[in-house]
Amino acid sequence: MSQHVDVLIVGAGLSGIGAAHHLRTAFPGRTYVVLEARDVMGGTWDLFRFPGVRSDSDMQTLGYRFRPWTGAKAIADGPSILRYLRDTATEAGIDQHVRYQHRVTRVSWSATDARWTVQATHDTETMVLTCSFLLVCSGYYRYDHGYQAALPGIGDFRGQVVHPQQWPEHLDYAGKRVVVIGSGATAVTLVPAMAETAGHVTMLQRSPSYIISLPTEDPIDARLRTLVGTRRAYPLIRWKNVLVSTLIYQLSQRRPQMMRNWIRGMTIKQLPAGYEVDTHFKPVYNPWDQRLCLVPDGDLFRAIRHQQASVVTGRIATFTEHGLRLESGEELQADIVVTATGLQLLALGGIELTVDGRAIHLPDTMAYKGMMLSGVPNFAFTIGYTNASWTLKADLVSEYVCRLLGYMDSHGYDVCVPVNEDPRVTEQPLLDFSAGYVLRAIDQFPRAGSRAPWRLGMSYLSDALTLRHSKINDGTMRFSAAQTGPRPAGTGAPSTR
Ligand SMILES: Cc1cc2nc3c(=O)[nH]c(=O)nc-3n(C[C@H](O)[C@H](O)[C@H](O)COP(=O)(O)OP(=O)(O)OC[C@H]3O[C@@H](n4cnc5c(N)ncnc54)[C@H](O)[C@@H]3O)c2cc1C
Repeated sequence: MSQHVDVLIVGAGLSGIGAAHHLRTAFPGRTYVVLEARDVMGGTWDLFRFPGVRSDSDMQTLGYRFRPWTGAKAIADGPSILRYLRDTATEAGIDQHVRYQHRVTRVSWSATDARWTVQATHDTETMVLTCSFLLVCSGYYRYDHGYQAALPGIGDFRGQVVHPQQWPEHLDYAGKRVVVIGSGATAVTLVPAMAETAGHVTMLQRSPSYIISLPTEDPIDARLRTLVGTRRAYPLIRWKNVLVSTLIYQLSQRRPQMMRNWIRGMTIKQLPAGYEVDTHFKPVYNPWDQRLCLVPDGDLFRAIRHQQASVVTGRIATFTEHGLRLESGEELQADIVVTATGLQLLALGGIELTVDGRAIHLPDTMAYKGMMLSGVPNFAFTIGYTNASWTLKADLVSEYVCRLLGYMDSHGYDVCVPVNEDPRVTEQPLLDFSAGYVLRAIDQFPRAGSRAPWRLGMSYLSDALTLRHSKINDGTMRFSAAQTGPRPAGTGAPSTR
């Protein structure tokens, strides 16, 4: 007989570890397991090993609400973030509940049993577990490879080509000519980091992105920590950062030209006199139509000022033996080319879903509160914000799931399913973002709706209110008791309404 747990979490990354923490705190008696495809926890923060890998949002909001990030730096390096995640899991005993090398491939809901049957591959075998509630925390992109842009004539290139998602452990780039293709968060991280030892690093971009410099250590945060101590300062700094980033986002939406001018002014100050700012740092889109790139203490601009790095804007005509030629005719010499061309998005870890024998085609579903699927019972997923730290949403999703489970316990329900019967709701993309990697794959994701509770909330402030305090039984979520089978044991439900 297969093992049954109350809650099965897919993925032991930032979201899965956070979800397990919320769950065990709210319901110490409930059984749970985390199935993780890789052989370690940490997800993104273990996978990416390129030079300089770091957060591009502040750690007070990328850290969990329940566990203060105590480091002084607002922007932290990848290994420190990984340590924080592992420590969180170990201190709470979550690591004991993770089963590694278990890739979930197929999940099937049975209304008769009010449970999911979960299939996972482990080595060459298929393991089967059942659970009452399924929480998918599989991140948003493929782990086996990143996005490979077309590289015309790459076969002629005699140097080395590297993708940041598969960074060679001992890549020696000291003194070498490096071309980094891309202009997103990964490229702007890599360029200054590699420029420290490379001969020269060129960032080759098709079109510019917005790049904002942020102090690694915020003096206001330091002052707050001295005044009230690190732990008490954490929620204050977290709220301050939420409010500042919300303000920047809202101004970008409402006063884009003002924000363009503001960012341009800051950029000019950090570049040498006469620099072609508009060629290399003036995007065609408005701020926050795509994610803003943050650089700590202006490290990218410093590398440009010190002539360790440069930016070239143009399209590749072809690779050559010793580098690449642009459509403009300009030649770039390179020993190493890094293709920082982005991620390949993957919805729900590529898991096949069936509900009572019916295959679920994700684009035919609508996301309820950005975290459950219409017509799919006892199921939630975590996709974080694109305009703020991922963890802000991940914490809210977990908190909401705990409220939902508590509500079901106290009302004797076993099954919950959001149902959209409002004819006024029209479809919208789940990720409302114009970045290329989103546009390439958004058709494979569930849809969002035009009205609450199907509308995609990209505002932490409003989500914090609705996910923490709104009525669980809102008329859209339907509840029922199981047709057969036992109810989950020993819950100690938190108060709900
Ligand atoms: C280089 C980089 C930097 C980033 N920086 C930031 C930042 O500064 N701020 C920010 O807010 N966000 C950032 N992000 C987004 C980042 O992914 C999130 O912050 C966060 O790490 C996501 O956590 P997660 O647990 O949801 O997903 P992941 O970290 O992707 O973890 C998902 C886990 O699920 C496992 N998994 C997937 N599918 C299956 C399956 N079918 N079966 C079993 N296990 C499965 C994976 O192996 C993985 O361990 C960054 C992303 C990248 C790539």
